[in-house]
Parts: sequence; structure tokens; C-alpha cells
Amino acid sequence: MKRKAHGIERRHATTSRLAGHAGWRERGLGSAAGYLLLVLLAAGTGCQAPDSIREYRFQGSSMGTTFEVKVVASLLAEQRQEAVREAIQAQLQDVDGKMSTYRKASEISRLNRSRETTPQPLSRETFTVLAEAQRISRVTGGAFDITVGPLVNAWGFGPAPQPASSPTAAEIEKLKLRSGWAKMELYPRDSTILKQEPALYLDLSAIAKGYAVDRISEVLVEMNITRHMVELGGEVRTSGRNAGGNLWRIAIEKPVSGDRAFQRILPLENLAVATSGDYRNFREAEDGHLSHTIDPRTGRPVRHELASVSVVATSCMRADGYATALMVLGEDEGYRLAAEQDLAVLFLVRTRQGSFRERETPAFQRLFGAKPTGTGPDTERESGS
Ligand code: ADP
Ligand code: MG
Repeated sequence: MKRKAHGIERRHATTSRLAGHAGWRERGLGSAAGYLLLVLLAAGTGCQAPDSIREYRFQGSSMGTTFEVKVVASLLAEQRQEAVREAIQAQLQDVDGKMSTYRKASEISRLNRSRETTPQPLSRETFTVLAEAQRISRVTGGAFDITVGPLVNAWGFGPAPQPASSPTAAEIEKLKLRSGWAKMELYPRDSTILKQEPALYLDLSAIAKGYAVDRISEVLVEMNITRHMVELGGEVRTSGRNAGGNLWRIAIEKPVSGDRAFQRILPLENLAVATSGDYRNFREAEDGHLSHTIDPRTGRPVRHELASVSVVATSCMRADGYATALMVLGEDEGYRLAAEQDLAVLFLVRTRQGSFRERETPAFQRLFGAKPTGTGPDTERESGS
């Protein structure tokens, strides 16, 4: 596999029709790259769209990554297109402005700076994301943990300047002491948070992109645009059908850093898919290839043969969070948990030959059908890379 030495993989921002802003910078919330999930147009065999049905595309960059929204509608007047563009931008700015650790003035940054240990008020939006994060932490036994922020920073994957060297075992232990998802208490009634540990520092990068995707999709529905596809940094949500009247076709990338080839294409209707991987956002350090996913149990970047995890769910926020959690747990533990929670998940596991093995949960197979070569619910399939 080709990897950049001592560099961080970056996705070049696409030209923006929406004024992009620096946001969470490269590798901010957006983990740089996102996993190019190409959305294929309906194949020619599908039913022909009526002449007035068209697809409109809105692209740009936000939250340290790029986005693309496709809207299917009969002729949208220029004014209406402008309204859609503004609605998308407003959602992105709102999430970024509240939840980015790359913005000093964001709500989360203020909370992170505060040493207050009494309940502090949060916006409904940030509270929603924290509550979901805590739920995923509980379900995954802490594999997902937004309080790993200080460790993310120490390993060079946060807004803090990149450290000259990896943290020592003693430093890791110290940072672990000030983290832990159970040290935040959430009170839904008045939307407040209590930090039991004054130095608790929250990093929403693994879940806020998915939340932003949900928000954009919801605002489009409110605007009566029920047929659309929203993608931000590789996290996707679809609604209704594409312009050809068929299911949206979302491609899952082969988990290699150089090429951009497809591993699988998922036909989706009213579903979201989020992918976590170790092949786009990583650092080469003296102690090897460092993933940006931190195992909260060890305080270190995860290291295993799991190359990517794609989770399909109705909520993109949930899919996003679980994808990171399963990436932490690894192939076996992750599979067990995903099956037990009835999550629809595709695991791509690196083989010694340099190819990938697919592992699908039963819920995933129910959605997309078992592979023809499958031999049971826990289908494994080899694929060339
Ligand atoms: P991916 O698409 O690979 O899941 P994300 O951007 O969704 O990437 O999430 C990775 C980011 O989440 C990291 O850069 C870090 O800020 C944060 N993070 C790392 N490990 C964890 C973890 N165990 N729980 C929650 N967030 C994490
Ligand atoms: Mg994630």
C-alpha cells in the first residue's frame, strides 16, 4: 500500500459553489478526507424520469472536508435553488459554529475551556449530539468516547499543534485520568451538562459530521424536497429516489490510501451510511502508521487488520458514531457487538495477501442480500485490491 511518509493524507477541496470557510480545517471534524463515496447515477435501465424532473447539485467545503448535496425536483427556479443553497449553508454553519473544537468561539470550545463543575446550559443541538454520543459509549462499553479529545490532540490528530513525538506511557496515563465518558452528566430536562472532571475535554469529530448530514436532510424535507442525497466527508444520507426513479447507489471505497476504487455499491432508500477507516487520515511516526481512531482503553491509536467499517442506519449521526466505535473494537469484538445490536455493518479486513475480506452482519445482509458466495450469516468474501 502506498502511504505518504510523515504526512497526513489530504483531500483536495473541490471547487465550491457555496462559499466554503476554513471550518474545522483539514482533518478537523471531517477527518480530512472522507471516503469518496461516489454516488452513481441511475443506470440506463431504470424508468425514464419525466422531462421536468431534474437533479441539482450543491457542493462546497465545510467542517474541514467537502460536501455534496443532490436534489431531485421538477424545475427549480433560480430563487428556489438559492434558497436550498442557503439552507444547506445555514445548517453547516450552525453545526460547525457550535461543535467544532477547531473554532475557539464554538459552544464546545467554551465548554472545554471551562473548569466549572456545576451544570452548564447547552444548545438543544449540541445536547442532542452529546446525548447520542453517551448512548453509543454506553452500548459499546466505552469504545466510543468523545472525552478522548486530549489523547487525540496528544497523538497529533486534533486542533493542537502536532507534537514532535508520540506521548510517553506516563503522559498517556495522565491524559486517560482526565477522560472518560461517564464523567459527563447530561440533564435532558434543562439541556445542561455537568463535568465531574473540570478538565474534561470533548471532541465531537467522530459524530458531528453525521449529525450535520441529518440536519441538512431534515431541512430539505421541511422545504418539501423529499428526494435527495446528502454527503459530507463521506457520510451519506439518502431520501426518496434518484432522478431515474431508482434507489440511490452509494459506493463504498476500497480502503486503500492511493487509489479510489469501489469495493461495494449499496442501493439505499431513506437510509444513511457512514464509514470509518484507517487509510485516509493517519500519520507516519517513528512508531509506525498511526490511525486517528484512539482506543480509549489503551489511550493509543488502534492497530489491527480492520481497514474500514461501514454502518447503515436511518440516522447518519448514529451510523457515524458506531462506525468509529466498531473501528476501535476491531473485527471480532466489533462484529459481535454489531450483530448483537442488530446493526447493518460491512467490515473490510486486510488480508496478508494485501487484499480485503468482507464481513457482513445479518442486518446488513437483510438489507442488501447475502453475497452469492456466502456460506452463512457471517459471510466472508475475498476481494482483490
Ligand atoms: P472516521 O470517518 O474514520 O470515523 P471520523 O472523523 O468520523 O473519522 O472520526 C475520527 C475522529 O474522531 C478522530 O479524528 C478523533 O477526533 C475522534 N476520535 C478518535 N477516537 C475516538 C473514539 N474512540 N471515540 C470518539 N471519538 C474518537
Ligand atoms: Mg465517525
